[in-house]
Amino acid sequence: MNNMINIVVAGPRGRMGREAVNLVKETPHFRLAGVLDRVNNRKLLSDVEGFAGLDVPVFTDIHECFQQIEADVLIDLTTPDIGFLHTKTALENGVRPVVGTTGFTPEQLEELKELAKRNGIGGIIAPNFAVGAVLMMKFAQTAAKYFEDVEIIEMHHDQKLDAPSGTAVKTAEMISVNREPKKQGHENEKETISGARGADVDGMRIHSVRLPGLVAHQQVIFGSGGQTLTIRHDSYNRASFMSGVKVSVETVLKLDTLVYGLESIID
Ligand code: NAP
Repeated sequence: MNNMINIVVAGPRGRMGREAVNLVKETPHFRLAGVLDRVNNRKLLSDVEGFAGLDVPVFTDIHECFQQIEADVLIDLTTPDIGFLHTKTALENGVRPVVGTTGFTPEQLEELKELAKRNGIGGIIAPNFAVGAVLMMKFAQTAAKYFEDVEIIEMHHDQKLDAPSGTAVKTAEMISVNREPKKQGHENEKETISGARGADVDGMRIHSVRLPGLVAHQQVIFGSGGQTLTIRHDSYNRASFMSGVKVSVETVLKLDTLVYGLESIID
């Protein structure tokens, strides 16, 4: 089939990687060409527990991988260091990266954007692939035209390292496009316990909740005289991110620059 997209998944044994392998397996116009893994080099994926029937090669070395197989797209769901190396190598080898790995520095993002531009090749880096989360951010940006007071409550599993979440920061940035800086609450308010009012972004507040049992959740609450508006998104499991990965794989083939954030490719 001519319009089949050949895909390499990096990090297939991880929680996100397993979902991505399933997505590729279940999408008729996607073909799993190989995987990149820290272990199991030169085995078949079908020899690894949990991947019965997937007779595709496992590579540890990304250069060897791209020499031996034809790939159109690399889906990377690993760790920041290796994810950066993978993304860079993909761009250098004409393979379009779709990257969910989080934690790249602004300098690394800039370097990757430059590299993509020099090579005239597209890529997508998206710290949140949940389509609903992107819509939540867009709706919040629109609501900010009409409400100047807003607080963000983000809630995640207790293994998350960074606070506030990248999604909360991005939401605040998008709201800032339509909101003038404003100190919210009473002008003489005092925290009797430090941190009670949360992080401060131009006067809007972000609160981070960390609890076992949660996955990734966020509420954006707007308030004005006599009314509040709450926009809420919940990711209950990692399958919630796969519709965004799918649309990214399909879209990246038409791009000739590297874009950041799923909101860049969703109308
Ligand atoms: P995870 O379960 O820890 O999986 C990471 C995987 O990467 C592990 O299987 C790990 O292998 C593998 N890995 C490490 N070094 C590697 C290498 N050199 N080559 C190939 N694979 C390597 O983590 P996760 O929850 O799946 O998350 C993966 C990434 O996605 C993280 O950066 C996370 O923040 C991000 N994430 C993004 C979204 C989004 O919507 N964009 C959503 C959730 C998570 P070992 O098991 O051998 O260490």
